[in-house]
Amino acid sequence: METKLLKGAPVRDAVFAALKEKVAAAPRRPGLAVVLVGDDPASAVYVSHKGKGCDEVGFHHVTHRLPADTAQGDVLALVEQLNADPAIDGILVQLPLPRGIDQEAVLLAVDPRKDVDGFHPDNLGRLVAGHPRFVPCTPKGILRLLEHYDLPTAGRRVAVVGRSVIVGRPVSLLLSLKGALGDATVTMCHSATRDLPAVTSTCDIVIAAIGVPRALGADAVAPGAVVIDVGINRLDDPTRPSGQRLVGDVDERAVLGRAGALTPVPGGVGPMTIAMLLENTWEAFARAEGLDAGR
Ligand code: NDP
Repeated sequence: METKLLKGAPVRDAVFAALKEKVAAAPRRPGLAVVLVGDDPASAVYVSHKGKGCDEVGFHHVTHRLPADTAQGDVLALVEQLNADPAIDGILVQLPLPRGIDQEAVLLAVDPRKDVDGFHPDNLGRLVAGHPRFVPCTPKGILRLLEHYDLPTAGRRVAVVGRSVIVGRPVSLLLSLKGALGDATVTMCHSATRDLPAVTSTCDIVIAAIGVPRALGADAVAPGAVVIDVGINRLDDPTRPSGQRLVGDVDERAVLGRAGALTPVPGGVGPMTIAMLLENTWEAFARAEGLDAGR
């Protein structure tokens, strides 16, 4: 069976083009502030991609880089300052925060109307209630990919592997909501799930968000299933100029030719996360300006 590769770039480009057009007609430029504490190299790469995305669509953006030993009070003070800044519509605190900073306290301090990551309990609660304000970017991007490639979820059995607040839990909720992009029968799996492949191999769609390189092999995937690989894992690879290669949570070589469709790593879900971040920032801006927030 030929496995269709679900590439994120064409979908991201379409989202960027639509945003660019809207920004050109907007009363001011939407603004995104990123707070980066510490020197985690992966976080620095993500932040630079976010900045490039903002430049591409014409958003105002500013990155606040703070040293790893910044006091929690100083991080909270910066968030308060950004909450009050009328040029900033979206605030993103790059996770993980260094040890010693209470991540929950920082996320709680972000004004829920500027919480474009959708991690504030106010926004997570709205999602649970079925009336989301900001949908977390990666789960939103996964749904948008499925929609773009015409892969319906209604009535389908979906296994979500991973239950983080960033990916697994919100994507499980979204897929189980009533409506066109939901209506799935969702099984949420995690590290205590017994015989994981026995569960996932009964499903039409498998979403892997684990953070363990190539954890899911052929036995975890039913023939013809749709596989969404969220994982971004860095492995040493001396043959590459960077000395590293990115691999997903799914063993791509094992499932190619078996899965009906698969998101590549890199180039599948990753570009969608940034596209949805910018879309959420537009939504925050549109609400602040009293414009129609629609897609
Ligand atoms: P977390 O570490 O927060 O959560 C991992 C989840 O996977 C946990 O629920 C854990 O279970 C579960 N898990 C771990 N090992 C296993 C296993 N062997 N079998 C079953 N379940 C397991 O990770 P995130 O959700 O933040 O990220 C997951 C992956 O997605 C990472 O590789 C990350 O880099 C990537 N990512 C990619 C993004 C993108 O844009 N493409 C965006 C965000 C993340 P338990 O709860 O029991 O501990």
